Amino acid sequence: LIELRGVNKHFGALHVLRDIDLTVGRGEVVVIIGPSGGGKSTLIRTINRLETVQSGSIVVDGRPLPDEGKELARLRAEVGMVFQSFNLFAHRSVLANVMLAQTKVRRRGKQDAERRSRELLGRVGLADQAGKFPAQLSGGQQQRVAIARALAMDPQVMLFDEPTSALDPEMINEVLEVMRQLAREGMTMVVVTHEMGFARSAANRVVFMADGRIVEDRMPEEFFRAPESERARDFLSKIL
Ligand code: ATP
Ligand code: MG
Repeated sequence: LIELRGVNKHFGALHVLRDIDLTVGRGEVVVIIGPSGGGKSTLIRTINRLETVQSGSIVVDGRPLPDEGKELARLRAEVGMVFQSFNLFAHRSVLANVMLAQTKVRRRGKQDAERRSRELLGRVGLADQAGKFPAQLSGGQQQRVAIARALAMDPQVMLFDEPTSALDPEMINEVLEVMRQLAREGMTMVVVTHEMGFARSAANRVVFMADGRIVEDRMPEEFFRAPESERARDFLSKIL
């Protein structure tokens, strides 16, 4: 579903992605971990073209990434993204937040969009919060709204960049549980996270990145049992 080949990205003199090869199949859950500044966010942002790259090819669903216009808008609808900060519209209700892009991008009628939104809010456990404003919700609830909003586009893949890093500990699990459920339902997911429990239990593969390179790309059981690289061993010893 996603294929990166020989991808290189520079920010000025800084070489942040170095010869990245990564394939994500339909229904796969790939967790990306690694030290700060290693290029994890930049990597997943290239997949929906929030970042451009200097060389290499990126193919999503059989098509090279479009540069602009309608094609780019369509790609963005196919690739849902959830960030550390929830980025909800503060002056709109929860329901309106989930409805908005559906009517604009997917051109759904209002009734259709509302039905779908309520269904998704139910799935993330927030059926009874539809009329509230983001500020009236906890961080965990806001992040679940952000997930529902991304799902409302019916994306083929969901990208998550540290979705629980801004949350208080007691709210982390309610968000991870929604993500585990998505994974069980067969959603293709690329997840940057420091939650190793999630990586162990939900990932098909763990990709360890450092200094702009993919250092290891392996099954979670193997990776956590016996990381091959010194970098990964060092990283794990610091966070586990
Ligand atoms: P973290 O775990 O802290 O989120 P990361 O692995 O996600 O780190 P990136 O955010 O991808 O790392 O950053 C990789 C490198 O690129 C870092 O050195 C960062 O400072 C640099 N960088 C990221 N975004 C930009 C930008 N817009 N302009 C210039 N440099 C950037
Ligand atoms: Mg990051």
